[in-house]
Formats: sequence, structure tokens, C-alpha cells
Amino acid sequence: MGFSLKLYNTLTREKAEFKPIDRQNVRMYVCGPTVYDYAHIGNARPVIVFDVLFRLLRHVYGENHVTYARNITDVDDKINARALRDHPGLPLNEAIRAVTEKTERQFHADAAELGCLEPTVEPRATDNIEQMIGIIDKLIANGHAYVAGGEVLFDTKSMHDYGRLSKRPLDEQQAGARVAVDAHKKNPGDFVLWKLSSHNEPGWESPWGRGRPGWHIECSAMSGRYLGEVFDIHGGGLDLIFPHHENEIAQSRCAHGTDVMANVWMHNGFVQVEGRKMSKSEGNFITIYDLLHTETFGGRKWPGDVLRLAMLMTHYREPIDFSVKRLEEAERLLSKWPAADPSGAAPCDTVLEALSDDLNTVAAVQALHALAQEAQSDKALLPVFAASADLLGVLPQKTEIDEALASAVDALVAMRLELLKAKNFAEADKIRNELSEKGIQLKDGKDPATGERVTTWEVKR
Ligand SMILES: [Zn+2]
Repeated sequence: MGFSLKLYNTLTREKAEFKPIDRQNVRMYVCGPTVYDYAHIGNARPVIVFDVLFRLLRHVYGENHVTYARNITDVDDKINARALRDHPGLPLNEAIRAVTEKTERQFHADAAELGCLEPTVEPRATDNIEQMIGIIDKLIANGHAYVAGGEVLFDTKSMHDYGRLSKRPLDEQQAGARVAVDAHKKNPGDFVLWKLSSHNEPGWESPWGRGRPGWHIECSAMSGRYLGEVFDIHGGGLDLIFPHHENEIAQSRCAHGTDVMANVWMHNGFVQVEGRKMSKSEGNFITIYDLLHTETFGGRKWPGDVLRLAMLMTHYREPIDFSVKRLEEAERLLSKWPAADPSGAAPCDTVLEALSDDLNTVAAVQALHALAQEAQSDKALLPVFAASADLLGVLPQKTEIDEALASAVDALVAMRLELLKAKNFAEADKIRNELSEKGIQLKDGKDPATGERVTTWEVKR
């Protein structure tokens, strides 16, 4: 690659050349889902954006030289509440497992349909409780945490540059905290590392009694375990900068005595739906599942690659407005792209250069489209197009339809035309529906010369 990879770093508020700590093992962590409900379209954005980065890093450093960790948050008070609501008859642990396993399965299905590669490791919070206790122990021992009011709290004043990522002055953090309920805290901004559990809450034994971890500690524990005390890239949505990422940094740095937790912090922008903030009360709360499998958005289902491309048509740091219009635009684009095989070809430089400029997927999609058009007259470009599309994860799939199947479809279409001539509409519709279920769409038209009905067919996307 003749140009360098540049990434915007929230920590420095600058775009700079990316220099991995170890080119043999480039390490990236992205905050994953809390598994209590269907993932919404806002959750889809980091999954897609960091999948593109994962693909790019694999291209630059080699497939086996990138470690991508994305966690599953399976301990959270929202999960408890959902378990009690949905499975009141089950013992708590079983009820929780029922909720988390089902949600996790659905999340994996969503991510696969959005064309995302699986991360290298996908640790679960509940499998890392011991590591969390280890970090909390260290933080108490070195004076960064204290026990008070049934909780272990991080002492924000003990860290000289707490707030460096979000650049929030400590005064503002304190003003934002709810002082009344925080009487046991040394400073209003102190946050929970561990809290005691009552009998109807999940809990693990610890030096501070049976309890459960706070929100932030799991990511410090899992990134430390799988990527090391200092790693290359940490990603997530903009809404996680404060308090989640700020507090991850505080925990990890103070426990390990390091200057940074990750060298580069990357954040994707917000997602709106049809020009408005997405919320259940606005009635525009839309899940990935809804988009893929129901007709609640725009009166139809949308293929995963259309959703993915629609997301990549905006730069990841910009806010995105998810709309039917945008999805239609993405679909139109995709329909003009050829299905092809990369067969070992290298991606096109223009696409690569765009992505290397802080993941400029907007320019990359434009370059890809230009390449698709060129490939129409120059078939030799097809593998280059395919390799480039694959880098964005939007490689059109070849629909395998063999000759035997094609002639079977032709025969059924001819039979249907005969039935229509004989005005046997019920039987004719039956054939149309059967073919439709097999993914074959019929199009009726008229022969301009004879005025007779002609039917063509195509494989639905
Ligand atoms: Zn996290």
C-alpha cells in the first residue's frame, strides 16, 4: 500500500497516521451489545463501521495479524428486569440465561445478515468476573478505589487527568451528578466498580461480599485479558465517550499504571430515523430484525446488504439519517453492481486510499460505483471490483441458477401463460406464488407488435 492509514483519534482530537504497537498483532476492542432486547439500528452502526475497519486492518497487516475483541454484556440491571418480566416462573439464573441466550443468538444473526465478519474473540462479561475482581482489588490497593455504602467506588480525584477523553472539567461532572443519592461518595463523580446484590439479583462472591460489577469494569477486564494493558484501537458509539469510555480508561490506567489504555479512540456518530431522534415514544424505534424481516419500515423488508451500504453512504463520524429514501438509494446502487469473484485480485487503489483516510466510506462507495461502471465494458476489472467491494463488505452475491433450474422455470412460465389464456386464474396464480416462494419473480408485459402477453422472470435479490 503506497499510502498510510490515517485515523481520527478522539483522545487527541486529531487525525494522524496509525502506527500499531505490534504489526504482527494489531489489537482492536469495540464495546458490544447488552443482551436484553433486539438490537436497534443505532446499535448496528458500530457493528458495521468497525467491521469495515477490521477488514481494512486485515488487508493491510494480514488476516492473521489482527485481533478484534467485541464483548457481550450479559450482566446488567436491564437484563434482570427483563428476566423477571418475561420469565416470572423460572429461578433467576435460568430466567437471565433464557433472556441473554436468545438475545445473543438474535444479535449474531443480525450481524451476519449485515455482512459482518465475526470478531476474533467475543468474551462474555459473566466469564470474566474473576478478572474484574482482580482489577478492583488492585485499584483499592493503590488508592484509586474505596468501599462505601455497600459499593466499591472509583475515586475520580485520585487520578490527575481524569476526564482527558471527554474533556469535561471536573466541576461540570460534579454538577451533573445527582448529589442527594450520592452521600456516601467522596466526590460526586465517583462511579461504581462493584455493588452488593440482594437475593433477587444475580451475584458473585467477592472480597466485598456477594455482588455484581458496575457498568464499566467489564470492558477494562476483557480488553486487558484479550488485548493487553495497552492496545491499539478502542471503538464505540459517540454516546459512550462519557461516562463509559472515560471510566474504562480510569480503571485500566490506574490499575496498570499506564499513560493510555488504547492509543486510538474512535467513535461513530448518532443515528436518527426519518429526521428524528429514535425513541419508543416517537414511534420510530426500529430494530435490525424489523428492517430485515418485517414490513414496518417503508412497508417492505430490506436486504442486509442494502442496510449495510445505506449505513456506509455517510462518513462514520457524521450523524446519519436513516430513511426509506436512503435505503432505496442504496438498493439502486447495489442493483447496478455486478456479482463477481475476487479470485485473488487486489482491491482498487482509489477505494483503498479512501478507506485509509479515516474510513472515508463515502468516497470509497463512489469509487466502487465508478469501478462497477468501468467493469461493464472491461470485464478484466471484475475481480478488482469484487476485491474492492469485499473490503467494504458489500460484495454482491452471485445467484447460482443452473440450466436445469432455468429450463424448469421457463416451462412453468409457459404453463402459466396457457392457464391465463384459458382464464384459469387460480391455477396461474398458484404457479406465480410457488415461484415467488422460491425467489423467482415474474414480470408480465405485452408484446408491442402482437399485443399478446409476454412473461419474463428474474431471481429476486
Ligand atoms: Zn465498553
